[in-house]
This record gives sequence, structure tokens and C-alpha cells, in this order.
Amino acid sequence: MQTWVIGNWKQNPATKREVEALLEDIVATIDSGLLDSDHKSRCQLMLAPSCIHLATVSSRLQNTSILSAAQDISAHSATVGAYTGDCSAQQVVDAGAAWTILGHSERRQYHQESNDSLLQKLICALSQNIGAVLCIGETQAQYDSEQTIEVINEQLQVIKSLLEQPLSQQLDLKHTLTERLIIAYEPVWAIGTGKVPTVAEVSATHEHIKQEIARFAPDLPLVTVLYGGSVNANNADSFAASSMIDGALVGGASLKAESFLAIAAAFS
Ligand code: PEP
Repeated sequence: MQTWVIGNWKQNPATKREVEALLEDIVATIDSGLLDSDHKSRCQLMLAPSCIHLATVSSRLQNTSILSAAQDISAHSATVGAYTGDCSAQQVVDAGAAWTILGHSERRQYHQESNDSLLQKLICALSQNIGAVLCIGETQAQYDSEQTIEVINEQLQVIKSLLEQPLSQQLDLKHTLTERLIIAYEPVWAIGTGKVPTVAEVSATHEHIKQEIARFAPDLPLVTVLYGGSVNANNADSFAASSMIDGALVGGASLKAESFLAIAAAFS
């Protein structure tokens, strides 16, 4: 089974020089044999640098087994237009990205991202042939009041809406989604806090996510679901042991080659 370990660098590192040093560290550690070819083919690695470093990172990763991704794309246009501050799907493809993260909780919190804008972003991504890692997850208050499933169901409505778009027929959406949609379940309260849900809780939530999407699109193979939220070199093995957890979206621990690749090794 194919697993995924994705590094979300967020607004890090501070300079191009530090980006290059981190990249060299990751590539050199892999080249030194940390992941053999069986491991590499089992676990797909991906790095999502900030937009300004995307071209640098993508170009360094060419001819390696690691993919690059944007952290977001514009909702307004898949190509060009008068949208100051935005970066289109076409532009991130041109910078070398094969995927984009969408709907990260920090974007939902600081940029009021809603299902409406995420639907537009998904359409833009898929129409430019890039994959989307759609992040969903409940806040601490929602977790405490046992609303996780309700919140997730509401956030997954965007996939239902996508399947209802006229674009669906044009894109052979079923085939496209099989190849180009990943869900990242990231409880907001676990991101960057060191707190994690139990593996049993994550597994049950992932099973629910897979079933819910299968309800919208019964002909699709089960969707890939990653866990994100304080995954590190010490706890990765326990998440990797669950058949419901197809990989990890990693923030803080992706900023050091050693911890990022230890997580990759756990999912290999
Ligand atoms: C994230 O922001 O996607 C994330 C999972 O962060 P961290 O690993 O630092 O909790």
C-alpha cells in the first residue's frame, strides 16, 4: 500500500539560504541510504514550502523521488487575473508543484476559508491537473463537545459539491479524484501543541472519512487519508501501525531532515 509523508513548512524557513540548507540535508540523508528503494517506492514524500520558495524547492527536487506542493492557491482564477497577492494554480504548476494543500486550519482561521472558496480552489487545482491535499478537523471546543464527526461531515460537503459540478463530466472527475485527492485529518487542537488523539480515535475518524466520501462517490476506490497534528519521530510508528492511517502531514517536525525522515521511515 502506498503511504504519504508530506512536510508543510508553513512560513518557514526565514531565508532562501536556510531553505537550501534544509533541502540539501533531506536529499543527502536520503541519498546516504536512509530509505532504500523499496521504502522509497512505498512512501511518497512531498514538501510544501512557502510560495516564494516553491520554484527553488521544485527545481532542486527534480530528478529525485520527492514531490513539491504549494500550501494554497487562488480561489479566483486557475490561471491569471487582477487578484493582488494571489498565486494561481497555473502559476504553482509553472513553479514546479504537482500538488497543493488546501483548507489548512491556519488558512481557515486567519483567512476565513469556507467551503465556497475551497470548492473554487479545488476546481482550479483539478483543472490545472494538480492534486489537492484537503485539510479538515475539529477545534478543541468541538472535540470536547463530541462534535468531531459533525464538523468533518460539514467540511466534506465540499467534495460532494465538487462531484455535482458540471465540470465533473469534463474532467472524468472520478478518475481524477482517485489520483489527485488526499484528505488530511488534522484536529486543530493537535497542531503544533504536542497533544495528539489516540491512534484508535484517529483510526475511527479516518474510517468515517473514507466511508463518507464513498457515500458521495461509490465507484471510487477508498480515499487516502493522512493524519496531521504533532506527529514526530517518537510517535510516528504508532500512527503508522494503523491500516486506516495512510501517512502523515507534518508541520514542525518537517523542518529538520532527521525527524522528517524518521517519520518517513515509520510509514515505509
Ligand atoms: C500542520 O500544520 O499541518 C501540522 C500538522 O503541524 P504540526 O506537525 O507542527 O502539528
